[in-house]
Amino acid sequence: MPSVLNCAEGIVLYYRVLPMSDTIFHKIIRKEIPATIEYESETVIVIRDINPQAPFHCLIIPKKTMRSIYDITEEDGSIILEMMQTANRLADENGFAKDGFRLVMNCEEWGGQTVFQLHMHMLAGKKMSGGFA
Ligand code: 5GP
Repeated sequence: MPSVLNCAEGIVLYYRVLPMSDTIFHKIIRKEIPATIEYESETVIVIRDINPQAPFHCLIIPKKTMRSIYDITEEDGSIILEMMQTANRLADENGFAKDGFRLVMNCEEWGGQTVFQLHMHMLAGKKMSGGFA
């Protein structure tokens, strides 16, 4: 870590070091605001996206506070595995395993992230277009 930070580096450090426990998803995890919950364990919660982009559009959210993909460390391996296994479970339960589905994780502004608690989109129920950007 540099000993002297310029302003931009300081802001980035501020965002990354301080726990951010006040996103809309944290409020949903704490059951302070409603959401349609598809699945929940000690580690993850799955909710329906409020603005669905496919017939089936869920968000798989870890309960541990993590701002984005960039914050994942080795010790989070089991959490990421559970997120992936949860997608497979949802695919089995909702009949998408054979036809397939799409998983998307947006990272920071240019990646299209708008809620700064790590989450994975699961889109299914139609054939996806080929475009990514
Ligand atoms: P991002 O843009 O960060 O990758 O994804 C955030 C997603 O959260 C968006 O698809 C948006 O529709 C969804 N979202 C934002 N606010 C709420 C909310 O209050 N409830 C639910 N269920 N989804 C939300």
